[in-house]
Amino acid sequence: MTIPEALRAHALAAKGFMPPDEGDALYEAAVAASCGAPGLAMLEVGSYCGRSTVWLGAAARAAGTVLFAVDHHRGSEENQPGWEWHDPSDVDPRIGKMDTLPMFRATVHDAGLEDVVVAVVGQSPTVARVWSTPLSFLFIDGGHGVEPARLDYELWTPHIAVGGTLAIHDVFPNPADGGRPPYEQIFLPAIASGRFVETSATGSLRVLRRVAEH
Ligand code: SAH
Ligand code: MG
Repeated sequence: MTIPEALRAHALAAKGFMPPDEGDALYEAAVAASCGAPGLAMLEVGSYCGRSTVWLGAAARAAGTVLFAVDHHRGSEENQPGWEWHDPSDVDPRIGKMDTLPMFRATVHDAGLEDVVVAVVGQSPTVARVWSTPLSFLFIDGGHGVEPARLDYELWTPHIAVGGTLAIHDVFPNPADGGRPPYEQIFLPAIASGRFVETSATGSLRVLRRVAEH
């Protein structure tokens, strides 16, 4: 299952951090997830300017469901001024804080995905604590610090239906390749819990299937 070429072009044109091969794998995993948990919604934590959102919105459309895209649009720690992954054009000069919501909206609009992508603008733990809609697919690519990653694991993964899928970005088992929290706070606990088994790996993307309720 591959993403329609026109949509893929929009994904590649969008600003962001999702490499093309990992985006294609994300699309494939999300479409496949809808077979394991038919009809249920998909959710992404960490949309930034909407790059991964295009692959996942396209998958939601193919699966006949919707994608919730959760982000406070104020940037992660590593996106702030002085950090490695900062882009000055992401800052709203009026308040001196990042605001990526306008770019996100432009990406989703231009890709023609406004009928399937629902932006949820807020802090991930705040949204997760009141969330009650079961998910066929959860993609975690939000804050990569220890506490944000731990909270995303703890608060979001219970919402994945058995048979559904958890995808995690920036998983680096080798410390030389990148930061630890997505691996140590999300991937390892998911496997250790016995609720998830790994089904594929592409670059730093890990795809896990939920096999048990507890
Ligand atoms: N998936 C994107 C990249 C996401 S970058 C792509 O394909 O390019 C990480 C994003 O997570 C940032 O936009 C940041 O604002 C968001 N984020 C980090 N911590 C968050 C939190 N606690 N709540 C909501 N969003 C958060
Ligand atoms: Mg990422």
